[in-house]
Amino acid sequence: MREYYIAGNWKMHKTRAEAAELARALVGQLKDGKHKYLVAPSFTLLETVAAIVKGTNIRLGAQNAAAEEQGAHTGEVSVLQLKDLGVQTVILGHSERRHTYGEDDALINKKLKLALRHGLEVILCVGELLEEREAGRAEAVCETQTVKGLEGVAAGDLGRVVIAYEPVWAIGTGKTATPEDADAIHAYIRGVIGKLYGPEAAGKIIIQYGGSVKPENAAQLMAKENIDGALVGGAALKTETFVPIAKFS
Ligand code: PEP
Repeated sequence: MREYYIAGNWKMHKTRAEAAELARALVGQLKDGKHKYLVAPSFTLLETVAAIVKGTNIRLGAQNAAAEEQGAHTGEVSVLQLKDLGVQTVILGHSERRHTYGEDDALINKKLKLALRHGLEVILCVGELLEEREAGRAEAVCETQTVKGLEGVAAGDLGRVVIAYEPVWAIGTGKTATPEDADAIHAYIRGVIGKLYGPEAAGKIIIQYGGSVKPENAAQLMAKENIDGALVGGAALKTETFVPIAKFS
C-alpha cells in the first residue's frame, strides 16, 4: 500500500514570523494526521521552520537546489547547505523553475542525482503546458520529463523519489484537472516507471497531483487509484485550507 503524501509549497511567500506562525499551527493541527506531510518554505525561512517541525510528523522541504555541491555559483544554494539546515526533501523541476527560469531536463536531472547522492528525498515535478495538452501531447511531455529527469538513477534510489504531476495550466489558475484526467496521466507515468524500473517499482512510487488542489476537490482527487497525494501551492499558505486537504478522508 502506498501512503498518501501531502506537501505544501509555500513559494516566495511569508516572513520568518509569518512562517513560524503557520508552521506552529500546522504542527498542532496535523499531529494526529494519518498521512505523510511536508512543508517547503523559501530558503530564508528554512532555519526558522526547521526548529518548529523538527521531531514532528512534518518533513522539511526546499523548493530548489543547485546542480553543484559548492563553488563559485552566486545566488545558488547547495544540497550541503540545505542538509545542514535539516532539509530532508527537495522539490525539483517545478514548472515555475522550468518555464520562468529556463531549467531544462538535463539540469533537473543533474540536480536530482546530486540530491539523491546526498541522501535527500526528491519530489520531481512533471507536467504539460496548455498548448501541449490541446495538441494531445500531455502523455508524451510527462514521459519525456520523467525519463530524462530520472536518467542514471539507480533502482535502489527510486524509493527516495516522488513524482508530482502538475499540469501547468492548472497551477495557480483555479482550474483543476478532473480526477479522471489526472488519474489517467498518473497511470501513464506509473507505466513509464514500470518500463524503466519494473512493475514492483511502478506499484510503489508515490505520484502526487498538483494544480489548484483545494479542500473541496482533495478527497475526489485522492480517491483515484493512481493519485497518492498532493503538492499544494496557494492553499498551503493557510491552515484553514491546508489542514482539510492534509486530513482529507
Ligand atoms: C504548485 O505550485 O505546485 C501548485 C500546485 O500551486 P497551486 O496549488 O496554487 O495551483
